Amino acid sequence: MDYNRRDFLKISGAGVAGLSLIQLGCSMKQVKGYSAGLKIDGAKEVLSICPFCSVSCHIIAHVKDGRLVSTEGDPDYPINQGALCAKGAAMLSLTRNPHRVTKPLYRAPYSDKWEEKSWDWVLDRIADRVKKTRDKGFTATNANGQRVNRLENLFTLGTSHMDNEECALVHQAVRALGVVHLDHQARI
Ligand code: SF4
Repeated sequence: MDYNRRDFLKISGAGVAGLSLIQLGCSMKQVKGYSAGLKIDGAKEVLSICPFCSVSCHIIAHVKDGRLVSTEGDPDYPINQGALCAKGAAMLSLTRNPHRVTKPLYRAPYSDKWEEKSWDWVLDRIADRVKKTRDKGFTATNANGQRVNRLENLFTLGTSHMDNEECALVHQAVRALGVVHLDHQARI
């Protein structure tokens, strides 16, 4: 199909009527074929919030057959305007990453190997070590005899994949023990 410059402007409406690719003889078959292959094709859109820091960026989650298939920043939310930091952008890997550790792993002192352990074994060991450390380092009163109830020989640091609620629980638990040196990756 031949078009001169005038015909082209007529079809495209010179910015008024809009450009019709079909009128120009372009086939839409290829475009439709690509669309059908997208992983979010036919997926349900669910608006969610990134749980990793108090910015609370909005995320659009795509769910297909009960499974999360994609996550992306919400362009309509004024705070993040579609953008996500590295943690929010990796949201999908929370559920889909085949390298995700799902069982407790323990490395004994001076060992170069990780051993799989049960939750009971790990929790008992953590409780035992925290108790011994606290018994050793707890300070009830300072040099002036004032009550301080603090623990300075134990430090806690949250990982980057702890969400807001997990951080709140851990901070409350360690503060109850008297820990004063605590921090979380999202704040550093
Ligand atoms: S961790 Fe990143 S993506 Fe998530 S809420 Fe905070 S700034 Fe937004």
